[in-house]
Amino acid sequence: MFVELASIPFGATVTIEGDVNDTEFLKDILSSDPIGAFHYTLVCSKMEEKLMANLTVKGKVYARCDLCGEETEAPCFSDLDECFTPDDEEYDIEKNGYNLDKFLQDCISLSLPREVRCKPDCKGLCLKCGVNLNKNACRCHETLIGDNNPFGALQDIIKNGGAKNGSTKK
Ligand SMILES: [Zn+2]
Ligand SMILES: [Zn+2]
Repeated sequence: MFVELASIPFGATVTIEGDVNDTEFLKDILSSDPIGAFHYTLVCSKMEEKLMANLTVKGKVYARCDLCGEETEAPCFSDLDECFTPDDEEYDIEKNGYNLDKFLQDCISLSLPREVRCKPDCKGLCLKCGVNLNKNACRCHETLIGDNNPFGALQDIIKNGGAKNGSTKK
């Protein structure tokens, strides 16, 4: 992505939008599988030879839920502000403009979500038996109450000698 200073009128902001479709390129930057293209929006203005740039990137990747480990689609987003000057390596004196490929690449790599959830109310895995609680219920919780909870005895009474799980008491 190259921005020529001549293409930006004085005192104006220019918006450049586009898609990064190259899956291999995205995969390299993100170390995850992208789902479709990543969309970018660059809003820039100039002051003398300087370029003020705001870049946002939006996309989606396949990722594993932090809580249950299931594969899910995770939204990616990032928003970077930068002021480039002719001292920066992005500046091209011949074309009097800035090459923002690296800026775009940085923005994409920063767009990965910090936390991944398969759904907002993911129940995660049971810490005891490892079952995915979104899919199956497990009985660990009940057992835990029976074994360690001071009210365990009370629960035995409530269960009223169902004796199904062979209480070790008495
Ligand atoms: Zn989950
Ligand atoms: Zn369990």
